[in-house]
Amino acid sequence: MLLREKGSKPIAIPRKEIDRWIYTTCGYCSTGCGIEVGVKDGRAVSVRGTADHPVNRGKLCLKGIHEFEAINAPDRAGHPMIRDGADGPLRRASWDEALARTAGEFKRIQERYGRDALAVVSTGQIYTEEFYTLGKLVRGGLGTNNYDGNTTLCMASAVSGYKRSFGSDGPPGCYDDFDRTECLIAFGSNLSECHPVLYYRLKTALERRRFPVIVVDPRVTMLAQLADIHLPIRPGTDVVLLNALANVILAEGMEDQAFALAHTTGFEDFARTVSRFTPEYAEGITGIPAGRIREVARIYGRAGAAMAIWTMGINQSTHGSDGVAAINNLALITGNVGKPGGSSLSITGQCNAMGTREFSSASGLPGYRQLENPAHRSEIARFWGVDETFFPEKRGLAMTDIFPAVERGEIKGMWVIATNPMTSMPDTDRVREILGKLEFLVVQDVYFPGETAALAHVFLPAAMWAEKTGTFTNTERRVGLVRKAVEPPGEAKSDLDIFAALARAMGLGRLFPGEWTAEKAFDEIREVSRGRLCDYSGITYEELAARGGIQWPSPSGSHGTPRLYADGLFQHADGKARLIPLEFVDDNERPDESYPFLLNTGRVIEHWHTRTKTGRIGNLDKFSPVLYVEMNGRDAARLGIEAMETVRLISRRGEAEAVCLPTERVGPGSVFTPFHFAWGANKLSLGLLDPHSRQPAFKQCAVRIEKTR
Ligand code: SF4
Repeated sequence: MLLREKGSKPIAIPRKEIDRWIYTTCGYCSTGCGIEVGVKDGRAVSVRGTADHPVNRGKLCLKGIHEFEAINAPDRAGHPMIRDGADGPLRRASWDEALARTAGEFKRIQERYGRDALAVVSTGQIYTEEFYTLGKLVRGGLGTNNYDGNTTLCMASAVSGYKRSFGSDGPPGCYDDFDRTECLIAFGSNLSECHPVLYYRLKTALERRRFPVIVVDPRVTMLAQLADIHLPIRPGTDVVLLNALANVILAEGMEDQAFALAHTTGFEDFARTVSRFTPEYAEGITGIPAGRIREVARIYGRAGAAMAIWTMGINQSTHGSDGVAAINNLALITGNVGKPGGSSLSITGQCNAMGTREFSSASGLPGYRQLENPAHRSEIARFWGVDETFFPEKRGLAMTDIFPAVERGEIKGMWVIATNPMTSMPDTDRVREILGKLEFLVVQDVYFPGETAALAHVFLPAAMWAEKTGTFTNTERRVGLVRKAVEPPGEAKSDLDIFAALARAMGLGRLFPGEWTAEKAFDEIREVSRGRLCDYSGITYEELAARGGIQWPSPSGSHGTPRLYADGLFQHADGKARLIPLEFVDDNERPDESYPFLLNTGRVIEHWHTRTKTGRIGNLDKFSPVLYVEMNGRDAARLGIEAMETVRLISRRGEAEAVCLPTERVGPGSVFTPFHFAWGANKLSLGLLDPHSRQPAFKQCAVRIEKTR
């Protein structure tokens, strides 16, 4: 009998009237899905995946499906605010007043304490045109060298590792490699929750053609459940495993000697180093049986094309940069760079983490130029019409070093743009104290209040995704168009307009002549990138819309490049990649008697970073409303903790309460908690820094667990 006949009410999907669909690109993760915003009466009321888009082929994940709701949240910031005095409440202000106060305070601080006493901390969320504009203002106008973005919290190790191995940032592979590889090995990457549409691409590829999938992760993630082989590695020992895989490949003659000899340097030193990392030695450190290491090395080494992907499990470590270099080593000795199905592909985090790497000038100058290179300084000085001696000769502090510099009294003012360090930085209580030391804090964001915005002296309301036009670059170097679909709320302005307006308020309007628009910034990007690895000179907005994005390098007359280094020419001066000998460094906080559990953190599918967007969307927040901690069932039984009981997690930095989920997803002695909640993971985390990338080791710290009653 049909349910309907029994009198039940079938679910009815309400039909939405739409005036028009506007093509754009998703504003959450770096997968870069094509998405269309449904607009009715000037309001975003729906979205749908773009059916023929080369990335997502019509699919969207949970976050993408609800993205229009982020625009319509009731606490969108619609007007500037100013705090009178140090402790007065924030009150509504005009743009003129807010910009004049910001410009005045920036000038006062820089004149009194020096240019570098002002720090600028940006994001991976705004458009590439906006990043370029901000970089031009900071490097060419404000002149502070303490300028960075929150990408140091997620992608800095990938950038650093790529630069060390290949001579430049830039992921060499692409999503098409899923369809062509003969072996996929994923390190610390839970695609299923963090990049769901890439997981769909992988599943689709596997349905068409089986190939081995190996997942290296301390936790039994959803991706690990799909794997043919899961290696539950001891956290922090990736370099040892990677060296051992290389050891077996070289010992058994599975390397691509011709490729390594022609296109790399350092082979002998590298081979000598990995010869010490036998599978038996690695077993003692990684916890992975020697036989399994040999088995995986043979699968990877014998594959005609093998693909390695990774995410935060590698990057967020005290040796994240080494982990990336070790993955690149493996790819280089087997010739798996620049060929279909053979790549070393870092899966990026935020929607435009790539755009900031390319053109924000945060760690250098636009177009992957370096401050340390006199020719690069000179090129950009000419292009921008500034004196080249104005540029510093080396990069200043990374985001994770800027905060301790505030603590030491070296930095007095900070401009925070589209990021929320009060939740995203390790050791939240310390971050709160640090921000409290600033003489002047300006926060520019799309919602108010937020954890960081609530501490600001000036708050500048920004337009968000789909309320302005520009571009994002995704993981596979695909530049995607993000079109304006609706107007921003109240008096909120695009970040690009705010940067240009602040420049004028500071007397730096010469950097942005006439009416400064996204198109003008994009034209400068096309010009400044001509001939560089990240060449945009052949890209136009019209082509981006027509093709669903274009992968750089895209010189004039081309339609993009799917893979870097297909010609075997790398970006080091001699054209060769570097094989880098790497030692194991064991320098993280380890469990002890007082703090016996190792805490790992990560993302859940419903939430995005610090929940500034997803925490406001009922259909996402209701599925993941509270902080939870996964704990092995045997540990829970030993401590007398029941399923769903609230427990206290305590580290040397702070404590947090969470609902306990006893499970076999984590091994004995380990616990896992999502990082999204302001009252959660980063109250506990230590965040020791990688020496190359300055990225924090969010995923490794020691805690104890106590019952709350
Ligand atoms: Fe957006 Fe990423 Fe989901 Fe695609 S996978 S819809 S880009 S959040």
